[in-house]
Amino acid sequence: MAGSVVQPTQERPTTISESGRRQWLYPASFKGRWLNRRTLVNALLMLLFFGLPWLEVGGHQALLLDLPHRKLAFFGLVLWPQDSYLLWLLLFSALIGIFMITAQWGRLWCGWACPQTVFMEGVFRRIENAIEGSPNKRMRRDQGPLTWDKLWRKAVKHVVFFVIAAHVANTVLCYVASSERVLEMTLQWPGDNPSWFGFMFGVQMLVYLDFAWFREQLCTIACPYGRWQSVMLDDHSLIVGYDTGRGESRGGKKQRRKAPDQAFGDCIDCGLCVQVCPTGIDIRNGLQMECINCTACMDACDGVMRKIDKPEGLIRYTSLQELGGGERKLVRLRTVGYALVLTASLSAFAYAANNRKITEVTVVRAQGQGVVQVQGDAVVNHFRAKLVNKSDKAVKIRLLPREGYVFVVPLNPWPVPAGKTATMEIFIRRKLSDFKAGGDDRPLLVFHQVTGEAGQDADGVEVGRARVPLLGPGMAARKGTGPTTPQPSAAQPAAGQAQGAAPQETP
Ligand code: SF4
Ligand code: SF4
Repeated sequence: MAGSVVQPTQERPTTISESGRRQWLYPASFKGRWLNRRTLVNALLMLLFFGLPWLEVGGHQALLLDLPHRKLAFFGLVLWPQDSYLLWLLLFSALIGIFMITAQWGRLWCGWACPQTVFMEGVFRRIENAIEGSPNKRMRRDQGPLTWDKLWRKAVKHVVFFVIAAHVANTVLCYVASSERVLEMTLQWPGDNPSWFGFMFGVQMLVYLDFAWFREQLCTIACPYGRWQSVMLDDHSLIVGYDTGRGESRGGKKQRRKAPDQAFGDCIDCGLCVQVCPTGIDIRNGLQMECINCTACMDACDGVMRKIDKPEGLIRYTSLQELGGGERKLVRLRTVGYALVLTASLSAFAYAANNRKITEVTVVRAQGQGVVQVQGDAVVNHFRAKLVNKSDKAVKIRLLPREGYVFVVPLNPWPVPAGKTATMEIFIRRKLSDFKAGGDDRPLLVFHQVTGEAGQDADGVEVGRARVPLLGPGMAARKGTGPTTPQPSAAQPAAGQAQGAAPQETP
């Protein structure tokens, strides 16, 4: 298990030298039951990461942040920009969940599930050890002159790293462009899809540079979660901790031989817990922000304890409360508070997701010239209805007639393709005499989704209603519009809009 490390200090991160330069870490290899468990969890998480894009739920990719179509598929639930409140609820729940997990189980995420740890310890470090040899050999070779042995090992390692980074980047691409599209693109020339290729290459470079060079610095310098933990942890949170009461005073064989009357603790000061640490810290200095709870020092120390016939667990999963001689409480005000908020936000998400509208209509006044026109004895107001179809099937949406008004629309019902948004131009004609007589100047527009083949089912299901304020002849005069015949606007055709369709009136 021999390894070589730089000496940790408490004044600055171990990876930064006194002069501010990067100090390379060579964490020693080790064995142990926690490593076995982590290897299994790593394998399952990688299976999930690489396999999820190929899994379908409810006819959609299980998890897809579909950037080109601006939608999110989340295990059968498809969210559109109009459903952003659901996304916020989901993110809020995730945030509270992280708070709760950290308060209860400390940096469980960092040590067991963070992609940085999973890939670094589960993939890249293992490959490096296999190609370049043990950490000691690697360090000696790195510090020595450039030889053929050094060159070929480095070259092979970086090529393998680059290929793995490409595979990771392609998988990330599957999550934003869909796995189907990625399969298509792999059969095409990169120049045919320059943006996606650029995105993929950017991710590949980031992954490669992170695992080949930046490494533990992401945890110790860049990651904000490491900083947050200081406010989220309390004395009862689970941590990886060194039992000072049992371990101190520490002393190696020599010291113990020199001072036979001194009462030594169980720590033989072998330094293995420091040598295996991937962030280069000494856990015996107490809880530190750089500790990612990876359990490596637990395995290393347990091995030492077994050799010297002492009980395992000098470094173990514990809490500050237990290390101080107290008892760890699982149920506390803050954990109960987090659990209640999490339950409330998840319930709100489930309710909102179950009751959200698949078809939506919003009506706004059209902008620009001709918004209000006078034609003969009538005033015409121009509105635009945005019809959103979040389903997988094309639908038709009808504007229902209303007594006292004439609605002029290019086509009624209006078709909206699956997963698309369409715009229906609406002209509302009202007699001048009706304006003078007062009455309702805010007609109610009611929209139904029709189900008949030819859209003849006038009843359908109501999908939206909006009350729109009409402007009178005075406003038309101010806008300087003369008598004209209202025509459907073709200025902003929407996806799936019927072009050149004859206007239809709903008396
Ligand atoms: S101190 Fe132990 S648990 Fe913390 S990062 Fe180092 S090896 Fe992992
Ligand atoms: S591995 Fe255990 S015995 Fe060795 S220095 Fe660390 S705490 Fe002490």
